Amino acid sequence: MRSDSNVTSERANFVTHLECGATGERLPANEIHNLSPAGKPIIVRYDLEAMGRTLDRDELDRRPADLWRYRELLPVRHASDIVSLGESATPIVHLSSAAGERVYVKDEGRLPTGSFKARGLCVAVSMAKSFGITKVAMPSNGNAGAALAAYGARAGMEITVFCPTDTPEINIRETLIHGARVERVDGYIDDCGRRVAEGREREGWFDMSTLKEPYRIEGKKTMGLELAQQLDWTLPDVIFYPTGGGTGLIGMWKAFQELEQLGWISGVLPRMVAVQATGCAPIVRAFESGAPHAERWENAATLAVGIRVPSAIGDFLILEALRASNGFALAVDDDAIVSARDRVARSDGVLLCPEGAATYAAYEQAVNEGRVAQDEQVVLFNCATGLKYPL
Ligand SMILES: *Cc1c(COP(=O)(O)O)cnc(C)c1O
Repeated sequence: MRSDSNVTSERANFVTHLECGATGERLPANEIHNLSPAGKPIIVRYDLEAMGRTLDRDELDRRPADLWRYRELLPVRHASDIVSLGESATPIVHLSSAAGERVYVKDEGRLPTGSFKARGLCVAVSMAKSFGITKVAMPSNGNAGAALAAYGARAGMEITVFCPTDTPEINIRETLIHGARVERVDGYIDDCGRRVAEGREREGWFDMSTLKEPYRIEGKKTMGLELAQQLDWTLPDVIFYPTGGGTGLIGMWKAFQELEQLGWISGVLPRMVAVQATGCAPIVRAFESGAPHAERWENAATLAVGIRVPSAIGDFLILEALRASNGFALAVDDDAIVSARDRVARSDGVLLCPEGAATYAAYEQAVNEGRVAQDEQVVLFNCATGLKYPL
Protein backbone atom coordinates (compact mmCIF):
# COMPACT_ATOMS: atom_id res chain seq x y z
CA MET A 1 0.00 0.00 0.00
CA ARG A 2 1.36 3.41 -0.97
CA SER A 3 1.79 5.61 2.06
CA ASP A 4 1.02 8.77 0.09
CA SER A 5 -2.60 7.78 -0.49
CA ASN A 6 -5.17 10.24 0.81
CA VAL A 7 -7.28 7.32 1.99
CA THR A 8 -4.68 5.52 4.11
CA SER A 9 -2.71 8.38 5.62
CA GLU A 10 -3.17 9.54 9.20
CA ARG A 11 -6.12 11.80 9.69
CA ALA A 12 -6.62 14.95 11.66
CA ASN A 13 -10.14 16.02 12.45
CA PHE A 14 -11.24 19.56 13.08
CA VAL A 15 -14.97 19.05 13.61
CA THR A 16 -16.08 21.04 16.68
CA HIS A 17 -19.82 20.42 16.62
CA LEU A 18 -22.93 20.22 14.45
CA GLU A 19 -25.68 22.79 14.32
CA CYS A 20 -29.27 23.13 13.17
CA GLY A 21 -29.35 24.87 9.78
CA ALA A 22 -32.40 26.87 10.85
CA THR A 23 -32.02 27.67 14.56
CA GLY A 24 -28.25 27.32 15.02
CA GLU A 25 -28.81 24.98 17.99
CA ARG A 26 -25.54 23.20 18.82
CA LEU A 27 -25.50 19.41 18.63
CA PRO A 28 -22.72 16.95 19.56
CA ALA A 29 -20.70 15.60 16.63
CA ASN A 30 -20.02 12.13 17.96
CA GLU A 31 -23.62 10.86 17.85
CA ILE A 32 -25.89 9.57 15.09
CA HIS A 33 -28.14 12.34 13.73
CA ASN A 34 -30.84 12.74 11.13
CA LEU A 35 -32.76 16.04 11.24
CA SER A 36 -32.26 18.56 14.05
CA PRO A 37 -34.76 18.79 16.95
CA ALA A 38 -36.45 21.56 14.91
CA GLY A 39 -36.86 19.12 12.01
CA LYS A 40 -34.30 20.90 9.79
CA PRO A 41 -31.02 19.88 8.07
CA ILE A 42 -27.91 19.72 10.26
CA ILE A 43 -24.67 21.50 9.32
CA VAL A 44 -21.12 20.40 10.31
CA ARG A 45 -18.81 23.02 11.83
CA TYR A 46 -15.00 22.96 12.02
CA ASP A 47 -12.31 24.79 13.96
CA LEU A 48 -11.04 26.64 10.89
CA GLU A 49 -8.59 28.72 12.87
CA ALA A 50 -6.79 25.65 14.16
CA MET A 51 -6.92 24.08 10.70
CA GLY A 52 -5.43 27.18 9.12
CA ARG A 53 -2.49 26.99 11.55
CA THR A 54 -1.59 23.40 10.58
CA LEU A 55 -2.49 23.27 6.89
CA ASP A 56 -1.63 25.60 4.07
CA ARG A 57 -3.37 25.45 0.72
CA ASP A 58 -0.21 24.66 -1.25
CA GLU A 59 0.05 21.37 0.65
CA LEU A 60 -3.14 20.27 -1.14
CA ASP A 61 -1.37 20.48 -4.52
CA ARG A 62 1.13 17.86 -3.36
CA ARG A 63 -1.56 15.28 -2.51
CA PRO A 64 -3.16 12.85 -5.00
CA ALA A 65 -5.96 14.65 -6.87
CA ASP A 66 -9.07 13.19 -5.33
CA LEU A 67 -11.82 14.08 -2.87
CA TRP A 68 -9.91 12.84 0.19
CA ARG A 69 -7.17 15.38 -0.26
CA TYR A 70 -9.59 17.74 1.52
CA ARG A 71 -9.66 15.38 4.53
CA GLU A 72 -9.14 18.13 7.14
CA LEU A 73 -12.32 19.76 5.83
CA LEU A 74 -14.26 16.49 5.99
CA PRO A 75 -15.89 14.84 9.02
CA VAL A 76 -14.39 11.30 8.83
CA ARG A 77 -12.12 10.75 11.83
CA HIS A 78 -10.34 7.47 11.08
CA ALA A 79 -8.84 6.47 7.73
CA SER A 80 -10.10 2.93 8.37
CA ASP A 81 -13.70 4.15 8.10
CA ILE A 82 -13.25 5.58 4.61
CA VAL A 83 -15.32 3.82 1.95
CA SER A 84 -13.81 4.91 -1.36
CA LEU A 85 -14.12 3.90 -5.00
CA GLY A 86 -11.52 6.41 -6.22
CA GLU A 87 -13.24 9.81 -6.26
CA SER A 88 -10.89 11.51 -8.70
CA ALA A 89 -10.97 15.26 -9.25
CA THR A 90 -13.19 16.03 -12.25
CA PRO A 91 -12.00 18.12 -15.20
CA ILE A 92 -13.17 21.60 -16.14
CA VAL A 93 -13.82 21.58 -19.89
CA HIS A 94 -14.05 24.73 -22.02
CA LEU A 95 -17.14 25.01 -24.24
CA SER A 96 -16.44 26.88 -27.45
CA SER A 97 -20.06 26.65 -28.63
CA ALA A 98 -21.26 29.00 -25.87
CA ALA A 99 -22.24 32.65 -26.31
CA GLY A 100 -19.39 33.78 -24.04
CA GLU A 101 -15.66 33.14 -24.36
CA ARG A 102 -15.19 31.88 -20.82
CA VAL A 103 -17.82 29.20 -20.34
CA TYR A 104 -16.75 25.90 -18.80
CA VAL A 105 -18.40 22.70 -17.70
CA LYS A 106 -17.26 20.85 -14.61
CA ASP A 107 -17.82 17.29 -15.72
CA GLU A 108 -18.95 15.32 -12.72
CA GLY A 109 -19.90 12.35 -14.89
CA ARG A 110 -16.33 11.04 -14.42
CA LEU A 111 -16.95 10.04 -10.81
CA PRO A 112 -17.65 6.48 -9.59
CA THR A 113 -21.23 5.41 -10.53
CA GLY A 114 -21.18 8.13 -13.20
CA SER A 115 -22.60 10.96 -11.13
CA PHE A 116 -21.70 13.47 -8.44
CA LYS A 117 -23.95 11.60 -6.04
CA ALA A 118 -20.74 9.64 -5.37
CA ARG A 119 -19.25 12.69 -3.60
CA GLY A 120 -22.07 12.92 -1.08
CA LEU A 121 -22.48 9.23 -0.57
CA CYS A 122 -18.84 8.25 -0.13
CA VAL A 123 -18.69 10.63 2.84
CA ALA A 124 -22.15 9.76 4.22
CA VAL A 125 -21.52 6.00 3.96
CA SER A 126 -18.07 6.40 5.56
CA MET A 127 -19.65 8.28 8.47
CA ALA A 128 -22.44 5.67 8.76
CA LYS A 129 -19.75 2.97 8.88
CA SER A 130 -17.94 4.87 11.63
CA PHE A 131 -21.14 4.80 13.69
CA GLY A 132 -21.64 1.07 13.10
CA ILE A 133 -24.75 1.54 10.93
CA THR A 134 -25.50 -1.54 8.79
CA LYS A 135 -28.97 -0.94 7.28
CA VAL A 136 -29.63 2.14 5.18
CA ALA A 137 -32.63 3.31 3.15
CA MET A 138 -33.23 6.31 0.90
CA PRO A 139 -35.59 7.69 -1.74
CA SER A 140 -34.01 8.35 -5.14
CA ASN A 141 -34.76 9.48 -8.69
CA GLY A 142 -31.95 7.18 -9.82
CA ASN A 143 -28.38 8.38 -9.35
CA ALA A 144 -28.37 8.70 -5.56
CA GLY A 145 -29.78 5.20 -5.12
CA ALA A 146 -27.18 3.75 -7.47
CA ALA A 147 -24.33 5.51 -5.65
CA LEU A 148 -25.64 4.40 -2.25
CA ALA A 149 -25.93 0.82 -3.56
CA ALA A 150 -22.30 0.86 -4.73
CA TYR A 151 -20.77 2.40 -1.59
CA GLY A 152 -23.13 0.39 0.62
CA ALA A 153 -22.02 -2.84 -1.09
CA ARG A 154 -18.39 -1.91 -0.46
CA ALA A 155 -19.15 -1.24 3.20
CA GLY A 156 -21.11 -4.49 3.59
CA MET A 157 -24.37 -2.69 4.34
CA GLU A 158 -27.93 -3.70 3.57
CA ILE A 159 -29.39 -1.07 1.26
CA THR A 160 -33.02 -0.33 0.36
CA VAL A 161 -33.91 2.27 -2.27
CA PHE A 162 -37.39 3.65 -3.02
CA CYS A 163 -37.78 4.98 -6.58
CA PRO A 164 -40.69 6.55 -8.47
CA THR A 165 -42.04 3.98 -10.97
CA ASP A 166 -40.78 6.01 -13.95
CA THR A 167 -37.16 6.18 -12.71
CA PRO A 168 -34.81 5.39 -15.63
CA GLU A 169 -34.46 1.61 -15.94
CA ILE A 170 -30.69 1.93 -16.30
CA ASN A 171 -30.41 3.36 -12.77
CA ILE A 172 -32.68 0.72 -11.28
CA ARG A 173 -30.70 -2.08 -12.91
CA GLU A 174 -27.43 -0.59 -11.68
CA THR A 175 -28.81 -0.39 -8.14
CA LEU A 176 -30.06 -4.00 -8.24
CA ILE A 177 -26.76 -5.34 -9.59
CA HIS A 178 -25.02 -3.90 -6.52
CA GLY A 179 -27.31 -6.06 -4.40
CA ALA A 180 -29.63 -3.36 -3.07
CA ARG A 181 -33.36 -3.86 -2.66
CA VAL A 182 -35.39 -1.54 -4.89
CA GLU A 183 -39.03 -0.67 -4.27
CA ARG A 184 -40.95 1.24 -6.92
CA VAL A 185 -43.47 3.76 -5.67
CA ASP A 186 -46.33 5.23 -7.67
CA GLY A 187 -45.49 8.87 -6.89
CA TYR A 188 -42.67 11.39 -6.62
CA ILE A 189 -39.44 11.36 -4.67
CA ASP A 190 -41.11 12.93 -1.63
CA ASP A 191 -43.67 10.11 -1.67
CA CYS A 192 -40.71 7.70 -1.68
CA GLY A 193 -39.22 9.63 1.25
CA ARG A 194 -42.42 9.03 3.22
CA ARG A 195 -42.03 5.29 2.63
CA VAL A 196 -38.54 5.43 4.14
CA ALA A 197 -39.85 7.35 7.16
CA GLU A 198 -42.70 4.85 7.64
CA GLY A 199 -40.38 1.82 7.53
CA ARG A 200 -37.61 3.29 9.64
CA GLU A 201 -38.68 1.97 13.03
CA ARG A 202 -39.95 -1.37 11.76
CA GLU A 203 -36.93 -2.20 9.59
CA GLY A 204 -34.21 -0.50 11.64
CA TRP A 205 -33.09 1.61 8.68
CA PHE A 206 -30.87 4.62 8.89
CA ASP A 207 -32.52 7.32 6.72
CA MET A 208 -29.96 8.69 4.24
CA SER A 209 -32.42 10.96 2.37
CA THR A 210 -31.06 14.21 0.94
CA LEU A 211 -30.24 16.61 3.82
CA LYS A 212 -31.79 14.27 6.40
CA GLU A 213 -28.33 13.35 7.71
CA PRO A 214 -25.44 15.82 8.13
CA TYR A 215 -22.72 14.41 5.88
CA ARG A 216 -23.80 14.30 2.24
CA ILE A 217 -23.45 18.11 2.18
CA GLU A 218 -19.82 17.72 3.28
CA GLY A 219 -19.09 15.35 0.40
CA LYS A 220 -20.80 17.61 -2.13
CA LYS A 221 -18.95 20.58 -0.67
CA THR A 222 -15.78 19.22 -2.25
CA MET A 223 -17.09 20.44 -5.65
CA GLY A 224 -16.54 23.97 -4.38
CA LEU A 225 -13.14 23.21 -2.80
CA GLU A 226 -11.96 21.46 -5.95
CA LEU A 227 -13.20 24.24 -8.22
CA ALA A 228 -11.30 26.85 -6.20
CA GLN A 229 -8.10 24.83 -6.20
CA GLN A 230 -8.33 24.07 -9.95
CA LEU A 231 -8.80 27.78 -10.70
CA ASP A 232 -5.70 28.59 -8.62
CA TRP A 233 -7.71 29.84 -5.64
CA THR A 234 -10.01 32.09 -7.62
CA LEU A 235 -13.66 31.44 -8.38
CA PRO A 236 -15.79 32.06 -11.48
CA ASP A 237 -18.19 35.01 -11.74
CA VAL A 238 -21.25 32.78 -12.01
CA ILE A 239 -22.07 29.13 -11.23
CA PHE A 240 -25.07 27.40 -12.83
CA TYR A 241 -26.23 24.43 -10.78
CA PRO A 242 -29.08 22.02 -11.67
CA THR A 243 -31.07 22.12 -8.45
CA GLY A 244 -33.18 19.29 -7.06
CA GLY A 245 -32.69 18.83 -3.33
CA GLY A 246 -29.96 21.47 -3.53
CA THR A 247 -27.24 19.59 -1.63
CA GLY A 248 -24.54 20.66 -4.08
CA LEU A 249 -25.52 24.29 -4.15
CA ILE A 250 -25.74 24.50 -0.36
CA GLY A 251 -22.48 22.53 -0.07
CA MET A 252 -20.54 24.71 -2.49
CA TRP A 253 -21.74 27.89 -0.82
CA LYS A 254 -20.59 26.44 2.52
CA ALA A 255 -17.22 25.54 0.95
CA PHE A 256 -16.73 29.13 -0.20
CA GLN A 257 -17.46 30.49 3.31
CA GLU A 258 -14.95 28.05 4.79
CA LEU A 259 -12.28 28.95 2.22
CA GLU A 260 -12.86 32.63 2.95
CA GLN A 261 -12.49 32.06 6.69
CA LEU A 262 -9.28 30.14 6.06
CA GLY A 263 -8.06 33.12 4.05
CA TRP A 264 -7.46 30.86 1.02
CA ILE A 265 -9.73 32.88 -1.28
CA SER A 266 -10.72 36.54 -1.30
CA GLY A 267 -12.85 38.91 -3.35
CA VAL A 268 -16.41 38.63 -4.56
CA LEU A 269 -17.92 35.14 -4.40
CA PRO A 270 -19.68 33.70 -7.47
CA ARG A 271 -23.34 34.44 -8.14
CA MET A 272 -25.07 31.12 -7.57
CA VAL A 273 -27.80 30.27 -10.09
CA ALA A 274 -30.29 27.48 -9.35
CA VAL A 275 -31.46 25.88 -12.59
CA GLN A 276 -34.76 23.99 -12.64
CA ALA A 277 -37.17 22.71 -15.29
CA THR A 278 -40.35 24.66 -16.11
CA GLY A 279 -42.28 21.47 -15.26
CA CYS A 280 -40.88 21.46 -11.69
CA ALA A 281 -39.62 24.84 -10.49
CA PRO A 282 -40.49 25.32 -6.81
CA ILE A 283 -37.24 27.16 -6.03
CA VAL A 284 -37.62 29.51 -9.01
CA ARG A 285 -41.17 30.38 -7.94
CA ALA A 286 -40.12 31.00 -4.33
CA PHE A 287 -37.08 33.04 -5.37
CA GLU A 288 -39.16 35.29 -7.59
CA SER A 289 -41.87 35.86 -5.01
CA GLY A 290 -39.30 36.69 -2.32
CA ALA A 291 -40.48 33.83 -0.11
CA PRO A 292 -38.11 32.26 2.45
CA HIS A 293 -39.52 28.76 1.78
CA ALA A 294 -40.77 26.99 -1.36
CA GLU A 295 -44.27 25.54 -1.70
CA ARG A 296 -44.57 21.99 -3.06
CA TRP A 297 -44.81 21.88 -6.89
CA GLU A 298 -47.83 19.82 -7.93
CA ASN A 299 -47.83 17.50 -10.99
CA ALA A 300 -44.10 17.80 -11.51
CA ALA A 301 -42.96 16.69 -14.97
CA THR A 302 -39.58 16.92 -16.77
CA LEU A 303 -37.26 14.52 -18.54
CA ALA A 304 -34.48 15.85 -16.30
CA VAL A 305 -35.49 13.52 -13.46
CA GLY A 306 -32.50 14.45 -11.28
CA ILE A 307 -34.10 17.86 -10.74
CA ARG A 308 -37.69 16.60 -10.52
CA VAL A 309 -37.95 17.33 -6.80
CA PRO A 310 -41.34 18.87 -5.89
CA SER A 311 -40.31 19.92 -2.40
CA ALA A 312 -36.86 20.25 -0.84
CA ILE A 313 -36.30 20.20 2.92
CA GLY A 314 -33.30 22.53 2.44
CA ASP A 315 -35.35 25.06 0.42
CA PHE A 316 -34.53 27.90 2.83
CA LEU A 317 -30.80 27.17 2.64
CA ILE A 318 -30.89 27.16 -1.18
CA LEU A 319 -32.80 30.45 -1.25
CA GLU A 320 -30.42 32.00 1.31
CA ALA A 321 -27.39 31.06 -0.83
CA LEU A 322 -28.97 32.46 -4.00
CA ARG A 323 -29.81 35.76 -2.31
CA ALA A 324 -26.57 36.12 -0.34
CA SER A 325 -24.56 35.53 -3.52
CA ASN A 326 -26.58 37.99 -5.60
CA GLY A 327 -27.58 35.07 -7.78
CA PHE A 328 -30.96 33.98 -9.06
CA ALA A 329 -33.08 31.00 -10.13
CA LEU A 330 -34.13 30.14 -13.66
CA ALA A 331 -36.31 27.47 -15.27
CA VAL A 332 -35.90 26.02 -18.78
CA ASP A 333 -38.25 23.70 -20.65
CA ASP A 334 -37.56 20.18 -21.89
CA ASP A 335 -37.24 21.28 -25.55
CA ALA A 336 -34.51 23.77 -24.58
CA ILE A 337 -32.76 21.00 -22.59
CA VAL A 338 -32.73 18.56 -25.52
CA SER A 339 -31.67 21.27 -27.96
CA ALA A 340 -28.80 22.35 -25.67
CA ARG A 341 -27.66 18.76 -25.19
CA ASP A 342 -27.57 18.12 -28.94
CA ARG A 343 -25.73 21.34 -29.79
CA VAL A 344 -23.04 20.86 -27.15
CA ALA A 345 -22.59 17.20 -28.16
CA ARG A 346 -22.09 18.16 -31.82
CA SER A 347 -19.89 21.19 -31.45
CA ASP A 348 -17.91 20.48 -28.29
CA GLY A 349 -17.92 16.69 -28.12
CA VAL A 350 -19.28 16.76 -24.56
CA LEU A 351 -22.30 14.54 -23.88
CA LEU A 352 -24.20 16.31 -21.11
CA CYS A 353 -26.86 14.66 -18.97
CA PRO A 354 -30.29 16.36 -19.22
CA GLU A 355 -29.70 18.25 -15.96
CA GLY A 356 -26.31 19.44 -17.21
CA ALA A 357 -27.86 20.47 -20.52
CA ALA A 358 -30.42 22.47 -18.51
CA THR A 359 -27.59 24.59 -17.09
CA TYR A 360 -26.36 25.36 -20.61
CA ALA A 361 -29.88 26.34 -21.73
CA ALA A 362 -30.24 28.48 -18.62
CA TYR A 363 -26.91 30.18 -19.32
CA GLU A 364 -28.10 31.08 -22.82
CA GLN A 365 -31.35 32.44 -21.42
CA ALA A 366 -29.50 34.46 -18.76
CA VAL A 367 -27.23 36.03 -21.40
CA ASN A 368 -30.24 36.90 -23.57
CA GLU A 369 -31.96 38.51 -20.62
CA GLY A 370 -28.83 40.50 -19.73
CA ARG A 371 -28.45 38.81 -16.34
CA VAL A 372 -25.00 37.44 -17.20
CA ALA A 373 -22.51 39.32 -19.41
CA GLN A 374 -20.75 37.54 -22.25
CA ASP A 375 -17.30 38.29 -20.88
CA GLU A 376 -17.99 36.75 -17.47
CA GLN A 377 -16.36 33.51 -16.40
CA VAL A 378 -19.07 30.89 -15.99
CA VAL A 379 -18.99 27.30 -14.72
CA LEU A 380 -21.87 24.95 -15.52
CA PHE A 381 -22.26 21.71 -13.57
CA ASN A 382 -22.79 18.50 -15.52
CA CYS A 383 -23.71 16.22 -12.67
CA ALA A 384 -23.84 12.84 -14.41
CA THR A 385 -22.44 11.19 -17.50
CA GLY A 386 -24.64 11.62 -20.57
CA LEU A 387 -24.14 7.89 -21.20
CA LYS A 388 -26.74 7.13 -18.52
CA TYR A 389 -29.46 8.79 -20.62
CA PRO A 390 -30.00 6.93 -23.88
CA LEU A 391 -32.98 9.17 -24.76
C1 LIG B 1 -29.25 14.54 -7.95
C2 LIG B 1 -29.00 15.20 -9.23
C3 LIG B 1 -29.15 16.59 -9.38
C4 LIG B 1 -29.60 17.49 -8.26
O1 LIG B 1 -28.65 17.58 -7.26
P1 LIG B 1 -28.97 18.24 -5.84
O2 LIG B 1 -27.66 18.58 -5.25
O3 LIG B 1 -29.71 17.22 -5.04
O4 LIG B 1 -29.81 19.45 -6.08
C5 LIG B 1 -28.83 17.15 -10.61
N1 LIG B 1 -28.43 16.39 -11.64
C6 LIG B 1 -28.27 15.05 -11.54
C7 LIG B 1 -27.80 14.29 -12.72
C8 LIG B 1 -28.55 14.42 -10.34
O5 LIG B 1 -28.39 13.09 -10.23
